[in-house]
Amino acid sequence: MKYTNSEALFEQACCLMPGGVNSPVRAFGAVGMTPRFIEKAKGSKIYDADGNEYIDFVGSWGPMILGHAREEVVEAVCQAARQGTSYGAPTRGEVELAQHIIDAVPCAEMVRLVNSGTEAVMSAVRAARGYTGRDLIVKFEGCYHGHSDGLLVKAGSGLLTENVPTSAGVPAAFAATTLTADYNDEKSVREIFAQYGNNIAALIVEPVAANMGVVPPKPGFLQFLRTITRQYGTVLIFDEVITGFRLALGGAQEYYGVTPDMATLGKIIGGGMPMAAYCGRKEIMSMVSPQGPVYQAGTLSGNPAAVAAGLATIKILEAHPEIYKSIEEKGAALEEAYRKAGENYGLEFCMNRAGSLLSVFFTHGPVETYKDVARSDLAKFRTYFASMLESGIYIAPSQFEAMFVGGAHDESDLQKTAAAIDRAFAAVAEG
Ligand SMILES: *Cc1c(COP(=O)(O)O)cnc(C)c1O
Repeated sequence: MKYTNSEALFEQACCLMPGGVNSPVRAFGAVGMTPRFIEKAKGSKIYDADGNEYIDFVGSWGPMILGHAREEVVEAVCQAARQGTSYGAPTRGEVELAQHIIDAVPCAEMVRLVNSGTEAVMSAVRAARGYTGRDLIVKFEGCYHGHSDGLLVKAGSGLLTENVPTSAGVPAAFAATTLTADYNDEKSVREIFAQYGNNIAALIVEPVAANMGVVPPKPGFLQFLRTITRQYGTVLIFDEVITGFRLALGGAQEYYGVTPDMATLGKIIGGGMPMAAYCGRKEIMSMVSPQGPVYQAGTLSGNPAAVAAGLATIKILEAHPEIYKSIEEKGAALEEAYRKAGENYGLEFCMNRAGSLLSVFFTHGPVETYKDVARSDLAKFRTYFASMLESGIYIAPSQFEAMFVGGAHDESDLQKTAAAIDRAFAAVAEG
């Protein structure tokens, strides 16, 4: 496969932008390769600057659940843009979209639209702090909640040791208000609440962890989080930026039957345009300005073209609830293809899946916590990734990301992908 145009563009880009990209994982750094510059996409396929075609399982990191350039979505965006791309004033579309979100998402009684998942989480945490009058928050190691200061934190080795920022430029004083527990480990949560419970404003969790590879919640884990947060008057926030409108129309909270106090949404909700939202109980959302004292604003929030894309996407999902069963079945078919390939070559690996989200870890199972994830053999992942890409299968260039199955993947895509998985596992087994 030739990718000389991508190479030339990347060389130029590296002089102009940090790392040559506008978001780090796009740079293919973890796999030591040149990122493919994308020119266009349609349905389940994307095409790079050298004219190579790939079956896409990144889906813009989640949003493209209906496939790329879906006609109704593109048409809605064009129609909205022709009327004007931004007014900085309220519109009918925002009211309509808010109603759809509130109808679909169990915890949503009120909603605020923002421009990115990062902004949604940052704002939801502020609302929870304003509501409770408390400062501390709890997050889980390996869960990603965007790049705002207080959330770029993971635990040191000891559970209750001082928290260290994961990024340079985050003041230690900000990191100190974030306590970190182990995902799927009830004991670690209990210990934190026993010591700090009455000062904890919010506990935030990805109901299915999908930013350390996919790690589903153990049975009862989400219920446990619901119970302990209620006991301490702590706001439970589900970060559903990936799981929202993906596991079900109502997200993970519908899929697992556990209703948080607040949720953050992103990715799918913008139908591929920059948009996100936070929502929750009326009592908490009423704290947000101009109704309440918690300030949050946005020049482009509720942008008409983005709202049109989101609305068109959600309306299709509402009208076709069978999509959820179908993408779950496709996910299961791929899971089976991995199992077969693993058996064929006697390869040690662990497959995790929640609905249409899946990950293959090159380590023995079970993979239930960040520590399990960290055991993965990254050299094996690189070999696997390079082989898949050469076979025309575009997956995330990192062990710690999800594979996204969508409505546009068809039987032929799945068969080609299964054959590619077999070749890739053969290459990994050869070493
Ligand atoms: C992607 C993501 C975010 C951040 O969203 P951006 O739009 O990239 O700022 C936050 N939380 C989760 C769970 C995500 O997957």
